Amino acid sequence: MSRDFASLRLTGWGLTAPSVARVATVAPEDLPECVKDSGVRGVIARGLGRSYGDAAQNSGGSVLRLAGSISEVVIDRESSTVTASAAVSLDELLTVIVPQGFFVPVSPGTRFVTVGGAIASDIHGKNHHADGSFGVHVRRLSLLLADGTVRELSPTSGADLFWATVGGMGLTGIILDATFAVLPIETSSCIVSTVRCPNLEELLSEMSVGDEEHRYSVSWVDLLARGRSFGRGVLWRGDHARLSDLNAKQASAPLRYTTRRVTSVPPIIPPPGLVNPFSSRFFNEIWLRKEPRRKDGQIKSIPAYFHPLDSIGSWNRLYGPRGFIQYQFVVPFERADSLQRCVELVVESRLASPLVVLKRFGPSNEAPLSFPMPGWTLTVDMPAAAAGLSALCRRLDDVVLEAGGRHYLAKDAHTRAESIVRGYPRLDEWRRTRDAVDPGRVWQSDLSRRLALLG
Ligand SMILES: Cc1cc2nc3c(=O)[nH]c(=O)nc-3n(C[C@H](O)[C@H](O)[C@H](O)COP(=O)(O)OP(=O)(O)OC[C@H]3O[C@@H](n4cnc5c(N)ncnc54)[C@H](O)[C@@H]3O)c2cc1C
Repeated sequence: MSRDFASLRLTGWGLTAPSVARVATVAPEDLPECVKDSGVRGVIARGLGRSYGDAAQNSGGSVLRLAGSISEVVIDRESSTVTASAAVSLDELLTVIVPQGFFVPVSPGTRFVTVGGAIASDIHGKNHHADGSFGVHVRRLSLLLADGTVRELSPTSGADLFWATVGGMGLTGIILDATFAVLPIETSSCIVSTVRCPNLEELLSEMSVGDEEHRYSVSWVDLLARGRSFGRGVLWRGDHARLSDLNAKQASAPLRYTTRRVTSVPPIIPPPGLVNPFSSRFFNEIWLRKEPRRKDGQIKSIPAYFHPLDSIGSWNRLYGPRGFIQYQFVVPFERADSLQRCVELVVESRLASPLVVLKRFGPSNEAPLSFPMPGWTLTVDMPAAAAGLSALCRRLDDVVLEAGGRHYLAKDAHTRAESIVRGYPRLDEWRRTRDAVDPGRVWQSDLSRRLALLG
């Protein structure tokens, strides 16, 4: 093992379930040596640690961060593709590609994720109904295998292992670099329509009829309001603005791209943190009132539309030292009743924080562990220290699984192995593909052990 390993305490973005591992940042050429003799607790790759739970942790084992630089990125204008190290972040990538007239094919709610993390979680964005998840845009990737060799994979060459790696949570190997499609854009602005909906029923029907006309769509739901306002929310639909959508001033530098961090949350927020039912209700009321009832044609920057939370550094500390969980599930469209039931359970519990997001997913892809499937996906943040949280999660799990839904591994910090077996019917197929290239179980993580992903 390399001398540069340090013993570090790691958590995911939710700050729950810390564990200690030997951690090193390693150049691609030195990885095989670090993976060799990994010991019984094995190795896992880590990107920027933006998965919420324990996916990029490995208690008692090794955690490897890949070294890689944005300076090596290659943009092929003809094929509209980018080739980048898996260590490069979408944040770094956007500063290079947006001024050249391209956008990432899929962006999560933060730009601080790596290309490797985006593929390993098969991330989805506000455009899932239109463009699918990140994996379908990947043309090829190189993967370091457990035996130290590197395999070139694509949807047509080594397809089974390619799709097992997409959404495979780092458990097939370490992605070294990838080539993926990028989206040509005329401007760095978005044109956004806002609709404020007074209750859940209206929100769902508004999303069901209008989403297909826009590339991006996402809504925020107030899960603290009761009675007639149950499930009220705001829906933002958007597209990349064309030059003709901009005024003269905006059009003078149509591809200008800048980001700004307004503030950062300090390291010490005493328990129980600043997010509680009172502050959340106050925030929801203010946020809802500031939005227009219906407005079209607002011009917003990429950071303002896609990554508003990134303007506050370390906002996860607002929940205090015990952190929070993000409960994300999807249920099929035909089971909107179960979505309604989950919303009822969360509203009754009064545990939801202000950040509740609802989205419609389009078709699934070929990856056995990819999370999205046609249906409604809801994302609810809840303080980890809240009384009654475990019981609520169990009740939600039952509703989600009975409806034929499932949970997102990149967000999970609470569920059990049985939920994954039920939610991911192709788990065994994924295990067979994985086992063929890693019979000795070199790749392991706290997540893989907690959820018995390897069987
Ligand atoms: C504010 C916020 C908003 C978010 N919004 C969304 C969203 O809208 N949609 C969505 O899908 N997700 C969203 N996420 C989750 C995030 O996109 C994923 O968890 C993503 O995988 C994090 O990337 P990372 O580089 O931080 O990876 P990590 O969190 O460090 O790792 C995640 C997984 O990827 C694996 N991995 C990382 N690098 C490699 C590599 N080189 N090779 C192989 N495996 C690797 C790890 O082993 C781990 O299993 C959000 C997260 C935050 C904090």
